[in-house]
Amino acid sequence: MLKVNDIDVYYGNIQALKGISLEVNEGEIVTLIGANGAGKSTLLKTISGLLKPKKGSVEYLGSAIDGKAAQSIVKAGISHVPEGRRVFSNMTVEENLELGAYLRKDRDGIKKDMAHVYELFPRLFERHKQLSGTLSGGEQQMLAMGRALMAKPKLILMDEPSMGLAPLMVKNIFNIIEMVNKEGVTVLLVEQNAHMALSVAHRAYVLETGKIVLSGSAKELQESDEVKAAYLGGL
Ligand code: ATP
Repeated sequence: MLKVNDIDVYYGNIQALKGISLEVNEGEIVTLIGANGAGKSTLLKTISGLLKPKKGSVEYLGSAIDGKAAQSIVKAGISHVPEGRRVFSNMTVEENLELGAYLRKDRDGIKKDMAHVYELFPRLFERHKQLSGTLSGGEQQMLAMGRALMAKPKLILMDEPSMGLAPLMVKNIFNIIEMVNKEGVTVLLVEQNAHMALSVAHRAYVLETGKIVLSGSAKELQESDEVKAAYLGGL
């Protein structure tokens, strides 16, 4: 479904990604783990069209999307849930969700999907008139996910959904990621919480200073001594 072929990405003179290649197949949850500054967010931003690779290509459903406008990538079915949630704080929960569907014209479909988002996140329904800036961190993460789902994505890119959340909320968010995936949405998940990420993912890649250093099934990586020592707290 998604193929990243040997991409190099720079910020000015600084090279953040060095010859990255990876693949996400339809129906999978693929996770990308790595420490701070490894380049995880940069990779997601390149896939969603916010950054352009200097070398290499990004293919989605058989066509090159690198160099396309972010809006047309959303239209093609890729939604990005950015790091730090980025909800519009002075708009209500419902207005934020409506914004997620701004490129769609199928009013009935939008209504149905809004009802479905409220089913997945009853907490958002209870707070649908509340200003988003007053939501808790976990609720804002739910809203960011809900807003991404309102675009009716085939592939969802999630950047560190667990960041700053209490363990119970992290569990809750990861359960929802699995539910959304079972409903047919493919997921590329960036996480520093390798333990949780590997517990829901089918396959995984490990990124270190802009390069993929390991890849395999989530189970293989959970059992790898290297991953255990570096990312699973020696468990
Ligand atoms: P984190 O989990 O801390 O967000 P990450 O793996 O997502 O880490 P990136 O944010 O992709 O890492 O950053 C990769 C590298 O690119 C880092 O060295 C970072 O300092 C650099 N970088 C990121 N954004 C910019 C920017 N806007 N300008 C210059 N350098 C940047």
